[in-house]
Amino acid sequence: MDASGSPEETTETPSLDFIRAIIAEDLKADKHGGRVATRFPPEPNGYLHIGHAKSICLNFGVAAQNQAGTCNLRFDDTNPTKEEVEYEESIKTDVQWLGFDWGDRLFHASDYFEQLHQCAVQLIEAGKAYVCSLSLEEIRQYRGTLTEPGRNSPYRERPIQENLDLFERMRQGEFDEGTHVLRAIIDMASPNLNMRDPALYRILKAAHHRSGDQWCIYPMYDFAHCLSDSFEGITHSLCTLEFEDHRPLYDWVLDELEVDCHPQQIEFARLNLSYTVLSKRKLGELVRDGHVSGWDDPRMPTLGGLRRRGYTPRAIRKFCEEVGVAKRDSVVAVAKLEHAIREDLNQRAPRVMSVLRPLRVVIENYPEDQVEELDAVNNPEDEAMGTRKVPFSRVLYIEQDDFREDPPRKFFRLSPGREVRLRYAYFLTCVGVVKDEQSGQVVELRCTYDPETRGGSAPDGRKVKATIHWVSAEQSLSAEVRLYDRLFKEEIPGDEFIAALNPDSVETLTSCRLEPSLAEVEPGSIHQFERLGYFCADSVESSPDRLVFNRTVPLRDSWARIEKAMAQKKKS
Ligand code: ATP
Ligand code: MG
Repeated sequence: MDASGSPEETTETPSLDFIRAIIAEDLKADKHGGRVATRFPPEPNGYLHIGHAKSICLNFGVAAQNQAGTCNLRFDDTNPTKEEVEYEESIKTDVQWLGFDWGDRLFHASDYFEQLHQCAVQLIEAGKAYVCSLSLEEIRQYRGTLTEPGRNSPYRERPIQENLDLFERMRQGEFDEGTHVLRAIIDMASPNLNMRDPALYRILKAAHHRSGDQWCIYPMYDFAHCLSDSFEGITHSLCTLEFEDHRPLYDWVLDELEVDCHPQQIEFARLNLSYTVLSKRKLGELVRDGHVSGWDDPRMPTLGGLRRRGYTPRAIRKFCEEVGVAKRDSVVAVAKLEHAIREDLNQRAPRVMSVLRPLRVVIENYPEDQVEELDAVNNPEDEAMGTRKVPFSRVLYIEQDDFREDPPRKFFRLSPGREVRLRYAYFLTCVGVVKDEQSGQVVELRCTYDPETRGGSAPDGRKVKATIHWVSAEQSLSAEVRLYDRLFKEEIPGDEFIAALNPDSVETLTSCRLEPSLAEVEPGSIHQFERLGYFCADSVESSPDRLVFNRTVPLRDSWARIEKAMAQKKKS
């Protein structure tokens, strides 16, 4: 397996989380004959998101950490009306991209339809299940509430033979949807609503994407899931907390059927992220109603969206590791995820210079037709990444933000009469400004450079307070750059998530200038644009003819921070 299994990354967690502690105990007690078998069981009804990554890292991670560990990828495809092959393919792509390998352990709950049906028949024969002919509405009424017990269905006492006959006819397609369901006989007075004669099978006259028209009755989640786990010899069935109340039913089904393998269901807290929604239903709504460009819109918390945004599998795995596994729900700050990607890219992303909002600079004392090739370091964090050449000439672009005609206190970048360093080049002094006659806006800076300062230091030892980035106007490449911000303006978007959308979640800049080394950039590759952040060449839209970059995450901008702090001070 990829870096996820590398020793230095796993030994960093000296204390085991509660799930790994349970597994370690079970191994010591030889509870499952020394086996650890987990599974990741997505329903193929949408794309995977960062919450699923937590579950994937846990299930595959636990298996990888144990010598005899295995982890199955199982599609929980028991609902023919919502599932599609497209989703299955995307899920496989995403799991692999995250760095995990299910080998030959790919399964489908739909492969067990025959076995599941036999189990249902077995329960009927044992007097543990019955065909209920109440309508769905009646079933709801009979179920009772959290404070009131339910009432027994009038069909609960149906003779076994009649149940068998009706169930067979359900299977043969004799009845319409909603006319009959198969229910377990448990306890209509149970304080746990899941135990009040839950439905096990329902009629659905829908073709399934794998089994076609073979079935018109389909097992319910609570019946199919525990049995699929059992059929596959799962030892630890890890799921999120909302299934805690389903555990008694999980155990009931397996106990009543006296199966050989009875996995242990263990619940952990699902991942919640601030300023984010993590629900396939909600994410699907954003896509369907055009609030984003698709499941892989770089603002989406889907793995496809994060990938397109420039997130790396390593950063996501590291994030999941740092979030850990707990028993109590909480909301993780999205800043933690941003920290993880910054840390990773800081080590690995090559640096380049790019100007997002260009301001033209003419160096009056630089020879007209001269172009120099200056050495620039690819990554100061990693010498092995070497150096590259960047062209320097008389006309440059710098960032509009790096110039102030009337500089506020503590603004040390370029301003009239001030000298700054051009990264990897020379000291530069602003000697004049050219303004647009109508708007009065500064459109060009007239500057001089000191030829003695090549490489960025002055022989007389004089210092400058700022270093700014630049590109040579003529050699630079034009590009579109998309600056992404949070998709939601509320920390907890909640059910009113559409109203909580951030109207400024993307800003598209179309006149950016990039250093020429990016001419052949591979779609999907990520660079640090010096002083600005990390940017990923868009894997869908970027081409050598039309460069398009997505901002993965900004660097922390020290000036923006000072300015904000000053504004706050003024207010108070
Ligand atoms: P959603 O709530 O997004 O619709 P789901 O739980 O319906 O997700 P499944 O395809 O059933 O999606 O999920 C597959 C596995 O991923 C399950 O074991 C589920 O518990 C886990 N999972 C889903 N969301 C999260 C999350 N936010 N954090 C951790 N695990 C999750
Ligand atoms: Mg689910």
